[in-house]
Amino acid sequence: MANTRVLIAKPGLDGHDRGALVISQALRDHGMEVIYTGLRQSPAQIAQAAIQEDVDVIGVSSLSGAHNSLFPKIIEELDKHDASDIPVIGGGVIPSEDIPYLLEKGIKKVFTSGASTDALANYIKELLGHQDESVVNTAPKKIAHIGIAVKNIEESLSFYTDILNLELKAVEKVESESVKVAFLKIGESMLELLEPLNEKSTIHRFIQNKGEGVHHIALEVDNLEERLNYYKKNGVRLIDTSPRVGANNSQVGFIHPKAANSVLIELYEHDEENV
Ligand code: ZN
Repeated sequence: MANTRVLIAKPGLDGHDRGALVISQALRDHGMEVIYTGLRQSPAQIAQAAIQEDVDVIGVSSLSGAHNSLFPKIIEELDKHDASDIPVIGGGVIPSEDIPYLLEKGIKKVFTSGASTDALANYIKELLGHQDESVVNTAPKKIAHIGIAVKNIEESLSFYTDILNLELKAVEKVESESVKVAFLKIGESMLELLEPLNEKSTIHRFIQNKGEGVHHIALEVDNLEERLNYYKKNGVRLIDTSPRVGANNSQVGFIHPKAANSVLIELYEHDEENV
């Protein structure tokens, strides 16, 4: 594979480029060739430099607050010169409420200030490499289920089946996890009641520490193993670094709550329809 060439650009009136220099160095450490335009480039100059330097991707950073006008102008300039195939990635100080607008205007992705330089580098590699099978651009498909820790499924069930009128789809024991689970269908998702089978169960410990309640959110994904590897590579704290067997013939992997605002997230891969 030819070397990846990246143009790092600072449009507008920002007086600081320490961030851009840090990013440039980080991408070089990942084996990329980085061309840095320097400060205060116009959108036209940036597009021109990208075309002249024949880069694969443009990274633009803005701290000045003018990103909503400057970033889309770069896209326009590229369009004008038949170079709209060069993806533009944004970063810097971008308020989250501006991100949908920028994506709509054709910015491929916006990295917020909390993103690591490794995440950026890996994103670029995936973007330019095997994009089709990439897990980077595929969000989890839906909420597979929400797990609720209960002391006793038999005692809890009536509220869900008789009052909420949810359909009970399956009850099973997962001996490896020392847990009994009940799946209740709700639209395209499920509620999963989890009852500890013994004191070794993590659900037992959860109830002891926090009482009954929401225990985890499960997100349905493809390519679980590849995804766990990718998250690991990006420094996401994981409980499982490879898939394990879950309820319902599923493969599951848990992300550490520290990575997700204290929410335990289960990645759930299932090849049958429904459950
Ligand atoms: Zn679950």
